[in-house]
Amino acid sequence: MQYASTRGHTAAQNFSEILLGGLAPDGGLYLPTTYPQVTDVELDAWRKLSYAGLAFEVLKKFATDIPEADLRALAEQTYTSDVYKNARSDESAAQITPLRVLQDKNGHKLVLQALSNGPTLAFKDMAMQLLGNLFEYTLAKNGAELNIFGATSGDTGSAAEYAMRGKKGIRVFMLSPHKKMSAFQTAQMFSLQDPNIFNIAVEGVFDDCQDMVKAVSNDLEFKNRQKIGTVNSINWARVVAQVVYYFRGYLSATTSNEQKVSFTVPSGNFGNICAGHIARMMGLPIDKLVVATNENDVLDEFFRTGIYRVRKSAETWHTTSPSMDISKASNFERFIYDLLDRDAPRVAALFKKVETEGGFDLSGKPGSDGDEFSKIAKFGFVSGKSLHADRLQTIRQVEKEFGITIDTHTADGIKVALENLEEGVPMIVLETALPAKFNETIKEALGRDAERPAGFENIEALPQRFDVMTADVTAMKAFIAKNTGL
Ligand SMILES: *Cc1c(COP(=O)(O)O)cnc(C)c1O
Repeated sequence: MQYASTRGHTAAQNFSEILLGGLAPDGGLYLPTTYPQVTDVELDAWRKLSYAGLAFEVLKKFATDIPEADLRALAEQTYTSDVYKNARSDESAAQITPLRVLQDKNGHKLVLQALSNGPTLAFKDMAMQLLGNLFEYTLAKNGAELNIFGATSGDTGSAAEYAMRGKKGIRVFMLSPHKKMSAFQTAQMFSLQDPNIFNIAVEGVFDDCQDMVKAVSNDLEFKNRQKIGTVNSINWARVVAQVVYYFRGYLSATTSNEQKVSFTVPSGNFGNICAGHIARMMGLPIDKLVVATNENDVLDEFFRTGIYRVRKSAETWHTTSPSMDISKASNFERFIYDLLDRDAPRVAALFKKVETEGGFDLSGKPGSDGDEFSKIAKFGFVSGKSLHADRLQTIRQVEKEFGITIDTHTADGIKVALENLEEGVPMIVLETALPAKFNETIKEALGRDAERPAGFENIEALPQRFDVMTADVTAMKAFIAKNTGL
């Protein structure tokens, strides 16, 4: 299996080679040169597998350069009930991504698939935990080391730290805006005492953190000497790890491959639903892929109109589903590449236009950049959006009708899923976080606190370990060098 860039850079790369890198040299994103296909025979056999067994089968198709025995061991080490123990029951923990039928009336079936039972209570653990083990494995093989340097406003940073803590050859330097994360998120990250984790609270906002990461990454000499890498959402291995739970969801919700299902995905950077698109391209019988956004509706706008218009910082709203507050969907280029029949020069031109003019238009109207919007249905995509008042209402409705508390992102998903139910096609909504993470809004909706999984009761009272720094690039570089000794 070889990989090439969405912008045409074709020097063939294998899975291990793109694992530690980010963007392709031409600024594009990596995709396999062809999508591996699944057969009916395989799907039938996979119905009986554990999550780890299924993960191995799917990964095997993409990571052909890793010996199978090693890959199987990595999958088994990653997807254990001990790591996914925050499920609502032990039986669910063993399933890793348990399904729960919320409603089944008049052929309108609504199912919740929980992806949020990992250590940080958000779906990013599903992929990041695998990445941690893959990194450790690859680095050990080459006697190499890696210093992950990133910025977070909450979920990604904590998922990365919990995946990399205690891993040999890896250090994490994570910037976050000082006193701007929720008390729960801050406690989750800063209470880690592992010597390979460095939390740096920057006096400023998230954009200041991100600017520092860019400034440091642009200094190639420093970056190479310090072996700096990233774990952002364009990482291909993260996308592949996410393909697995679409297979799990499909296989658990059906008994025959004749049956189709749809998925609704609370979306921000388009990483999660991009994995659904890839599962569908591999031949998994997915009917619709429903993109749910919050007030930050850049994706909903595209899937309704064919116009992709990225937002400026001032137009990016801080909402109560904050992990979907994005202005530019970093994985979107992977889908556009397929939509354009893998025409890399056109993809390159369109995404250059995003940088210079803030977007592109595929509506087919006079003066537009193309008419591929007419082919959207062929890929199964539809979309919808959900606002703060919808979240509150949906959290109340789900508690009342189905007896469970959902988080704000999942509420955006359910709201949009209910608008897209079709008779005879089960709709699986991906639960992307547990409610304890976003307690402020749960309180607003239900007038009580969200339940906390065992072990999280007093997390805010644990001792915290972090450094406060100003947004000074020189001082940051000195801090990294001092702690790596490189
Ligand atoms: C990251 C995240 C999302 C958005 O996922 P994308 O892959 O960026 O589209 C949705 N919900 C939660 C809770 C998240 O952490």
